[in-house]
Amino acid sequence: MFSVIQSIVIDLSLGEAMHSLASALFPICRSITGNGLRESLRIISSEIPLEIREVASGTAVFDWEVPREWNISDAYIKNSKGEKILDFRNSNLHVLNYSIPVHQHVTLAELKKHLHYDKEHPEWIPYRTSYYKEEWGFCMSYNQYCGLEDEMYEVCIDSTLMPGSLTYGECFIQGELSDEVLISSHICHPSLANDNLSGVSVATMIARKLLQSKPRYSYRFLFIPGTIGAITWLAQNEHVVPRIKHGLVASLLGGPGPFTYKKSRRGDTEIDQVAEFVLKSKSSTNNVIDFFPYGYDERQYCSPGFNLAVGCLSRTPFGQYDEYHTSADNLEYITTASLEDSYHTYLEIINVLESNKKYINVNPKCEPQLGRRGLYNQQGGDNDNQNFQLAALWILNLSDGEHTLVSICQKSKMSFNSINFAAQKLLECGLLREPDSDELPSRENSPLSLLR
Ligand code: ZN
Repeated sequence: MFSVIQSIVIDLSLGEAMHSLASALFPICRSITGNGLRESLRIISSEIPLEIREVASGTAVFDWEVPREWNISDAYIKNSKGEKILDFRNSNLHVLNYSIPVHQHVTLAELKKHLHYDKEHPEWIPYRTSYYKEEWGFCMSYNQYCGLEDEMYEVCIDSTLMPGSLTYGECFIQGELSDEVLISSHICHPSLANDNLSGVSVATMIARKLLQSKPRYSYRFLFIPGTIGAITWLAQNEHVVPRIKHGLVASLLGGPGPFTYKKSRRGDTEIDQVAEFVLKSKSSTNNVIDFFPYGYDERQYCSPGFNLAVGCLSRTPFGQYDEYHTSADNLEYITTASLEDSYHTYLEIINVLESNKKYINVNPKCEPQLGRRGLYNQQGGDNDNQNFQLAALWILNLSDGEHTLVSICQKSKMSFNSINFAAQKLLECGLLREPDSDELPSRENSPLSLLR
């Protein structure tokens, strides 16, 4: 159900809408559990209908356990004069995320054991976490660290780590088919914009768009804490997993740089083929890379026991931009133009996926006579009459129930619009038909033959 909260993105351009959503979420101190997550999901639920789920601390999820819930209300360091030299209220990155509570007086030497900084970027506050090791700590710029004097300090982290729950949000859009496309974004980082609010904002607006259409596939959007959230979702939703036919992990979508698509573990699935096709058609600077078992939640979706057709589509990958996991990954780092471009790229992939069918030429012995069926002088897609003829010849030759439209595009070097337009015309005049279900290779028997 839709929340009663007023949408914050109404009447804005698409890029502005996504930037505004990121701006509304930015100040909140999120983590893998806690009220920051709930507040963030509440804001997203003002834009799309979101089921918000709570999974109790201690719940077994495969080899893991849902951790105790972490909340924080304040944190600071005061010098011997009682002046606050570091204040959580200025930046939630100042606290080691998941810090246990502390309130004591310490020497500089003792304090330094609990400080994190980034020498390479002396003005930025690094983002650090300690989810599974009980620790307290602060993060500060290296410049601030260097200015610390040898005196006594009062350290205070007013946090709680108690039995509670892990919260995640889910938006399901029913399509014609029960087969699903999964779009997953992590939502556990505090005030960091590109990693990860850009992915959250783009995913939200894509869901908003799909809610206004009647898609062929069903779509499932997950807003979950990284790693433990995906593990928890998979553990609690194993019955849903067989319906997930394609998926994308959405992250790092607001910064500069070309796109990088990280393939699924299987590497030859339809989403891999479609994402590569769309990215390469858009720009030769876009990258497609093979799967590796670290990164975002594709690690869990592509673990061998699931081995889902889920890739990760980002712009500049994590760790490859200086601002990554620092206070410089802020709202100035992400731009409306990049967010909008990312949104359109995701939608283009979705649109191709929606239309990427296999057909059967019902007249496979020699070429059919197109003129008799009024198929000369056809124009459409983005092609002229000559291109239409060429597209029709490619489709008729390769429509054997094995080739998708994208694989026909790849062989013919023609655009998806041209091939899809011609395919629809051939369907209309009865020269093509959709294969019966028993004519399609089953996924279990031959997963690799699906995309030939
Ligand atoms: Zn991150």
